[in-house]
Amino acid sequence: MENNIDKILSKKIFDKKNIITLLSITNDEDKKKLFDKAYNIKKKHVGNYVHLRGLLEFSNICTKNCKYCGIRSDNKKAYRYDIPDDEIKKCVLHAWENGYGSMVFQSGERKDKNFIEHLNDILIYSKKITNNEIGITLSCGEQSAETYKKWFELGAHRYLLRIETTNEDLYYKIHPKDKNHSFQERIQALKDLKNTGYQTGTGVMIGLPFQTIEDLADDLIFFKDIDIDMVGMGPYIEHKDTPLYNYKDMLMPQIERFNLTIKMIAILRIMMKDINIASSTALQAIVKNGRMQGLKAGTNVIMPNLTPTKYIENYFLYENKPCLKEYSKEYFKLLEKNIIEAGDTIQYYKWGDPIHYFKRNSI
Ligand code: SAM
Ligand code: SF4
Repeated sequence: MENNIDKILSKKIFDKKNIITLLSITNDEDKKKLFDKAYNIKKKHVGNYVHLRGLLEFSNICTKNCKYCGIRSDNKKAYRYDIPDDEIKKCVLHAWENGYGSMVFQSGERKDKNFIEHLNDILIYSKKITNNEIGITLSCGEQSAETYKKWFELGAHRYLLRIETTNEDLYYKIHPKDKNHSFQERIQALKDLKNTGYQTGTGVMIGLPFQTIEDLADDLIFFKDIDIDMVGMGPYIEHKDTPLYNYKDMLMPQIERFNLTIKMIAILRIMMKDINIASSTALQAIVKNGRMQGLKAGTNVIMPNLTPTKYIENYFLYENKPCLKEYSKEYFKLLEKNIIEAGDTIQYYKWGDPIHYFKRNSI
């Protein structure tokens, strides 16, 4: 017999009430319907392929003070690093030689001249040593439109900047309210990225203190409204040396944050059929093989962490962050096996750009 979930899933467009109903599903039968629908849409519109991005957390020095993040500038316990160029080059070559189409260069947020020029150099040599073949995604926070343009000209063509939450009041509960942390400027940065020509990605954390199911529905509607190309969403995971840790008693259990994230992914895949959606590392921090459950709910991007071990332990955003040594052959083989068992295929040697980007630019 057709129930309410069948009716919602057969609709072309979900309204906020529909999204809230889907996010509230608890029974296994309805969950299966949601995930199957999302997976079939993924297969039809973007294929059951996984695009790899080699993640390099090249510096954990940050000028910001986000209240949830273990590498915020006020956390004096974090040992700070900047990976030297020769080691960055090694990682880039490793990614390229092993068929990763793209890299993600991620760091804390700095807007000083030294940082900007250093990243200029990283982009120039990364392209040069890979015959211009490696695709480059950046995740280095808010920058001026001019800086975004410079990095784009030097070969970066994707940028990830999570809005973190689209509820402005909640934004200021999880960030200091000062000139360094502005919700409006974050929105402007996303617009600047799109205007520069980047394939633009955003995302939110799920299960934050004070966050409601209505907020999460609004987040999904926001992704659609700004017509984003890529999304990376992950469960919020507490870190004891951050101010948000004081609210740990009001959090839902981690496994519920995980389950909610998987539902967010599936609903988003149905709403935005041809974008790229990543299985975030934070999924793996809660459930072994969490990223594979992401694939089954509609994700098509995985970012194996290529940061050398001696640095990875200091890019400690949250508790139990998995130190996956995915640059090692054994770990990588295991990842590949898990992806195949999940029913997907890795697309080697391809950039794996979001189809959505080309469609919206051809209009
Ligand atoms: N500094 C850049 C920025 O903030 O956009 C990029 C690096 S930042 C570490 C990347 C992402 O990590 C953030 O967008 C945030 O969503 C996520 N993150 C930070 N702390 C987290 C936590 N405690 N739990 C889950 N995700 C977290
Ligand atoms: Fe810095 Fe990004 Fe962490 Fe905020 S989330 S403190 S900007 S690294």
